[in-house]
Amino acid sequence: MNAPDSTRAAGTVASIDHWIDGKVVPGQSGRTADVFNPASGKVTGKVALASNAEVAKAVASAQAAFPKWAETPPIRRARVMFKFLELLNQHRDELAAAITAEHGKVLSDAQGEVTRGIDIVEFACGIPQLLKGQYTDQVSTGIDNWTMRQPLGVVAGITPFNFPCMVPMWMYPVAIAAGNAFILKPSPLDPTASILMARLLKEAGLPDGIFNVVQGDKESVDALLEHPDVKAVSFVGSTAVAQKIYETGARHGKRVQALGGAKNHMVVMPDADMDQAVDALIGSAFGSAGERCMAISLGVLVGDAADRIMPMLAERTKQLKVKNGVESDAEMGPIVSRAAADRITGYIGTGAQEGAKLVVDGRGFKGAMAGAGCDNGFWVGGTLFDNVTPDMKIYKEEIFGPVLGCVRVKDLAEATALINSHEYGNGVSLFTRDGNTAREFSRRVQVGMVGVNVPIPVPMAWHGFGGWKKSLFGDMHAYGEEGVRFYTKQKSIMQRWPESIGKGAEFVMPTAN
Ligand code: NAD
Repeated sequence: MNAPDSTRAAGTVASIDHWIDGKVVPGQSGRTADVFNPASGKVTGKVALASNAEVAKAVASAQAAFPKWAETPPIRRARVMFKFLELLNQHRDELAAAITAEHGKVLSDAQGEVTRGIDIVEFACGIPQLLKGQYTDQVSTGIDNWTMRQPLGVVAGITPFNFPCMVPMWMYPVAIAAGNAFILKPSPLDPTASILMARLLKEAGLPDGIFNVVQGDKESVDALLEHPDVKAVSFVGSTAVAQKIYETGARHGKRVQALGGAKNHMVVMPDADMDQAVDALIGSAFGSAGERCMAISLGVLVGDAADRIMPMLAERTKQLKVKNGVESDAEMGPIVSRAAADRITGYIGTGAQEGAKLVVDGRGFKGAMAGAGCDNGFWVGGTLFDNVTPDMKIYKEEIFGPVLGCVRVKDLAEATALINSHEYGNGVSLFTRDGNTAREFSRRVQVGMVGVNVPIPVPMAWHGFGGWKKSLFGDMHAYGEEGVRFYTKQKSIMQRWPESIGKGAEFVMPTAN
């Protein structure tokens, strides 16, 4: 891969631009945003923020490229995906390094993110099979009926900062393989991965205009939502924005799937393996500094599990290796931005004021403790609360940081009722050794993605990802077969041939005969 425009010698500031019609297009709006390395707090890039006119240019490029791509046989589109897959595997470390440099997550976690994105590309390579229609011979005498799925046209994806590679890959491999032209609007906090992926798609042979990137903020999102040639919008981000995108997109006649925020519980039953439960809670609460929509932010400790597990959790939270993500032994890196770190420390203060027991206070963690050059980075240490109750803000609201709150309940029924009354329903996990407990819980819990002794049950590429309640606006999940359905529309064709047409004009509703 050619050196990306965003990789520069240390100390210099990269310009991160748009990707339109198969090439880098410098921003023309005069507006940019700083991109930081969160470990050091230094500005490493300036990302362009697109105007309405720049979005219109990207849409025009996509619209012009769409008809030929839609006509391209699915097997040939799949071949581009196979080549892209090969290139992604060759360049996975560069992608992971770019993610760590701008997001802050530890390198091994960034590599895992890239791998989970690659899974979707592998799924999209099967597009000929996925697009296969259904056929019924002889629905009536001499008449056959079949259905096929056709692409929508220009579709857009608006993505959050927390998975700059994987979340766009929940969308565009499926959309493109299905024959659409795609416009990605990544988060301005970590935009470099989008350009790296664009370069690889071009190298894989994707025609210019089929994948475009407009860097930007609310202005570019509004332009995409209002543009008549954008037929569908996939969004992943916070709930307030997801709801707005869903409503505005629908008002403009678009198909919308908008995945929102989360507050995920993990129930620990008294019969669970406590060592495994502690490992699961620590990894899923503090991995990626809690900045995952599937992070566990609430432990629900049933009966005497609470007294047994709390001292173990406290010990492990204190021992977390919080370091620059490039360090090979780092378990947790910095927070993505100064504003996010301030929001998280604000919540820690609120929790203490609300009466929760602050067992480990991550506000005491200073950048200097993370290693050389980290003094001015965006750091918060692992934080643990006990005795959290459902009326507290730290129970109800998404903190999106390394803060684990623990709630004590008497039995599984109380745990399930608690989870079911929460406004979010993204992910949930249950740790137990009892099969019937697991079965009953899985069937009764009002959450879209359930883990049984699995803390972060992100569905595999062919199953589709999506929460319930305020964690998803729209009907269809991301990727998997629902993803294929989202990016295509069904057409039904009924045919007969002159030899089987016996009667003249018919004035009654046709029925099978
Ligand atoms: P965010 O909502 O701030 O931003 C998401 C995207 O929307 C970005 O591209 C951003 O530029 C754009 N945006 C922000 N404000 C906007 C506005 N007012 N109008 C139009 N566009 C706007 O989210 P974030 O902070 O980047 O990401 C974290 C959030 O994403 C968390 O709430 C997390 O739970 C959620 N998330 C959800 C899932 C899921 O699958 N449900 C997955 C990952 C992240």
